[in-house]
Amino acid sequence: MDTPSNIKVHDKYFQPFISKEHIENIIRKMVEEISKDHALEKPLFIAVLNGAFIFASDFFKQLKFDCEISFIKTKSYDGMTSSGDVLQVIGLEENITNRTVIILEDIIDTGLTIKQLLNTLQKQKPATLKIATLLLKPEAIQHQFPIDYIGLEIPTKFVVGYGLDYDGLGRNYPEIYQLVEEV
Ligand code: 5GP
Repeated sequence: MDTPSNIKVHDKYFQPFISKEHIENIIRKMVEEISKDHALEKPLFIAVLNGAFIFASDFFKQLKFDCEISFIKTKSYDGMTSSGDVLQVIGLEENITNRTVIILEDIIDTGLTIKQLLNTLQKQKPATLKIATLLLKPEAIQHQFPIDYIGLEIPTKFVVGYGLDYDGLGRNYPEIYQLVEEV
């Protein structure tokens, strides 16, 4: 089996961090847990683009029960349109009122994006609103809210690959790489 080597994305070097096999195991466990909790509820999964598209695809095709998926993008409101704790959600056509909704996110860093997304979606009164994130940087979190399903906790270092980018590039690698700090 080939061992992945360091990669260069734009001007920065990244080293192998989470292998394809490790990612597969993490996702299998998340699938098991979420299936146990929600298989009978026809949940709607909401994947946050762009970063979560590969995670969402690998996760979703392992589910063995009735469920739906929708892909959204988020955007901050410009200027005076809203207070800072809600986001514009682009692409959500489903009515989520009284439904079980599970957000699929690639990575939670400070938590601001997900906190704002939760506030926005709560306004539609889903029956259950949960978060499943592939990666979490626990030392970077600045906003408190329950994170229901966590794939893996990682240190506060920038990562790319498996859908995650550095300035648009790097999403295409099947494993996850960590920034090599310059000394
Ligand atoms: P938060 O709002 O939690 O601070 O940031 C969440 C978003 O920041 C993620 O959805 C992702 O787009 C981006 N992000 C945070 N940490 C990383 C990282 O290590 N690598 C990449 N590629 N994106 C990150």
